[in-house]
Amino acid sequence: MSSRSPNPSWLMPTSYFGAPERAPRGSLLAPALIHGAGLAACLLAGVMVKRSREREALTDGAGGPLSLGGLWWGRYENVLTRLSQKIMSYVMNLAADLKFERALMASGHERPDGDVCPICYLYIGLPVERNARMNACCTKLVCNGCILAARQRGMLFDRCPFCRANLAVDEPSLLAMIRKRVDKRDAGAICFLGSLYEKEKLGLAKDVPRAIELWTEAADLGSIDAHYQLGCVYCTNEGAKEDKPRGIRHWKQAAIKGHSLSRHNLGCVEHQKGNYQIAVQHWMISAKMGHERSLNFIKEMFKEGCTTKAQYAEALLGYRDAVEEMKSPQREEAKRLGRLVYFANYLV
Ligand SMILES: [Zn+2]
Ligand SMILES: [Zn+2]
Repeated sequence: MSSRSPNPSWLMPTSYFGAPERAPRGSLLAPALIHGAGLAACLLAGVMVKRSREREALTDGAGGPLSLGGLWWGRYENVLTRLSQKIMSYVMNLAADLKFERALMASGHERPDGDVCPICYLYIGLPVERNARMNACCTKLVCNGCILAARQRGMLFDRCPFCRANLAVDEPSLLAMIRKRVDKRDAGAICFLGSLYEKEKLGLAKDVPRAIELWTEAADLGSIDAHYQLGCVYCTNEGAKEDKPRGIRHWKQAAIKGHSLSRHNLGCVEHQKGNYQIAVQHWMISAKMGHERSLNFIKEMFKEGCTTKAQYAEALLGYRDAVEEMKSPQREEAKRLGRLVYFANYLV
């Protein structure tokens, strides 16, 4: 899948200073703002009702303004109404953001189904691009262990180990296969084509705006990888106008569905803001999925006294369990053989 560098330089944690904060900075801001804005909206509504009653008292009972003062009040009331609507909309947005942040921490602790090899049903080791291959025929990720096993059973190298379709013989036919799946609105293929445009692969000219267009389409169709790619392109200023808040929103959309690399990056973002405990919570989730770098960062935090021994122990055990569950004899053999797995003459 993606070969994008997982961590732009600005995401790398800087040195760790001071003790961990008791409450992450800004964690109480949203509830306080929601509460305050809600009170303000109620106050405004109360004032409006009171004035409205006063106005009724000045009218002839049919509701029409009787004087210049009544006209002035009509405009004043409009302004108050619009202000009240804006405050209510702001409150609703804040409440939705708060709900999403809670869901982000409570969900996405399991990797997505797309990270499971469709042949051996084990999660593919991380990083995925080093432990599996995806063919354009079915856009399924097949682990190196199953590719090796298929070759050892005598399957020819011109066939997909999963769907057994003939593989492309050259770059133009590979691109044609991908485009065929793109025409069928395959989210994985659309995302993949976007990456090809970004990296100038298969004879395509570099075209980041086109890549963003394709990733956006793939994300709308449910591709988690596309959200991750959009997060990277907006956060790193690589060919697109840098828009970190937008990029971080995409990583959140991916992380909430179990994208481990996006989760790891969110930990780095929080660390940069000084929210060490939230950073550890993100890294804890990705470490338990088998993300080694997240584990290492928690270890560094522990060494600097910014997290507890219990948290580090929990991350370590979770990481080890995840790695153990992803092992199989075939995968171990494939690891030993390295890239030779993909070439027939070295295996027989
Ligand atoms: Zn497999
Ligand atoms: Zn296939």
